[in-house]
Amino acid sequence: MSVDEQAAQAGAEFSLDMSDDVRQMRDWVHEFARNVIRPAAAEWDEREETPWPVIEEASKIGLYSIDFFAQQWFEPTGLGTPVAFEEIFWGDAGIGLALTGSCLAAVSVSSNGTPEQIGEWLPQMFGSPGDVKLGAFCSSEPDAGSDVGAIRTRAVYQQASDEWVLNGTKAWATNGGIADVHVIVASVDPALGSRGQASFIVPPGTKGLSQGQKFRKHGVRASHTAEVVLDDVRVPGRCLIGGKDRLDARLARVADGGTAGEQAAMRTFEASRPVVAAMAVGVARAAFEYARDYSLERVQFGRPVGQNQAIAFMLADMAASVDAARLLTWRASWMARSGRKFSSAEGSMSKLVAGETAVRVTEQAIQILGGNGYTRDYPVERWHRDAKIFTIFEGTSEIQRMIIGRAVTGLDVR
Ligand SMILES: Cc1cc2nc3c(=O)[nH]c(=O)nc-3n(C[C@H](O)[C@H](O)[C@H](O)COP(=O)(O)OP(=O)(O)OC[C@H]3O[C@@H](n4cnc5c(N)ncnc54)[C@H](O)[C@@H]3O)c2cc1C
Repeated sequence: MSVDEQAAQAGAEFSLDMSDDVRQMRDWVHEFARNVIRPAAAEWDEREETPWPVIEEASKIGLYSIDFFAQQWFEPTGLGTPVAFEEIFWGDAGIGLALTGSCLAAVSVSSNGTPEQIGEWLPQMFGSPGDVKLGAFCSSEPDAGSDVGAIRTRAVYQQASDEWVLNGTKAWATNGGIADVHVIVASVDPALGSRGQASFIVPPGTKGLSQGQKFRKHGVRASHTAEVVLDDVRVPGRCLIGGKDRLDARLARVADGGTAGEQAAMRTFEASRPVVAAMAVGVARAAFEYARDYSLERVQFGRPVGQNQAIAFMLADMAASVDAARLLTWRASWMARSGRKFSSAEGSMSKLVAGETAVRVTEQAIQILGGNGYTRDYPVERWHRDAKIFTIFEGTSEIQRMIIGRAVTGLDVR
């Protein structure tokens, strides 16, 4: 039976009608975004600090919790996660990343970890009300961004003590150095490039892990981004994600010329990209709505500026492209949830289009607000700064085009 046939049997049919559960969840998240996230956004952007009180509030109501994110991930229609993320990021992208950054680490453990690892570490990445925790996923390095195969951080196994010893420097880690649980991608066999890599959990308080420089950023400034330095970090054997037997079997397959699960890894990436796309859709929608409302109020030449075709046409383009980005995002999320094959890299398509839409729409919003749009008294300049991240992280737009290009031509596009 083909992947598509299996999915058709197992999964829900695609529908643009949200289920009652998804609709209720959307309204609940929207209320939090409107009443708690958005009013706090400008302050935390200026402070460039992790918004702990907002994370605490979200934890109190159960939004910042492994249960909430897992429930949306497994929501049967596939719309739970994109709908939730769009609402959170509609509130604010910087605070949104602070609230969802732990999910990256959680997904890397849940997609490749053993049931014991999932049970032990995921709760420690979120904590509980009054004792919130963070997770960080550390793959990128100063010399390994788009080129993940160039990772130099080394993990060496010491059989006598059943420990792995990690050394290297990670760059750009969301929550890096302030997280309770760090997931580190390291090379166990440098000769094999990305096929010789594995991921490791570094438990809270492990000696040798420290924060390097904290980056001062253009946008998403409420989200902490920093280097993570690993200096002889020793973690027990059980911290190798997936376990040693699976790693040894994979390395043996590579040595025999096999692909060592590259297809599975691609699938995981394709499934996670619509989540980032949904974040971008949230920012774009916020900017469109704000600019539309402003265009109805602001009067020049005796009429609302929105009555000028020049402005109304811009709003028309903005509305259409936000909806188009959302539709690609929902399609990819549904494909991921129902196990469909991403034959045209539909996950990458959603991330590419939504990221570039967010940049364009937020820029148009500034234009519609005129001078006000260019000031920090209005949120659209912040949304424009925030939007730019969506063409950079989780695979740049160029890398998404390369992946889609390969999928649609079948050529080894470089
Ligand atoms: C705010 C923020 C948060 C982040 N969070 C995390 C995190 O939590 N964990 C983590 O591991 N990483 C994280 N990253 C890192 C992010 O994923 C990388 O920045 C991204 O993958 C790009 O890598 P780079 O910055 O090294 O750019 P480079 O790879 O150096 O790219 C530079 C330019 O060259 C282009 N380019 C590179 N290779 C090609 C090619 N083959 N074809 C065409 N163009 C190419 C790129 O598209 C880009 O335009 C974060 C980054 C930022 C800014």
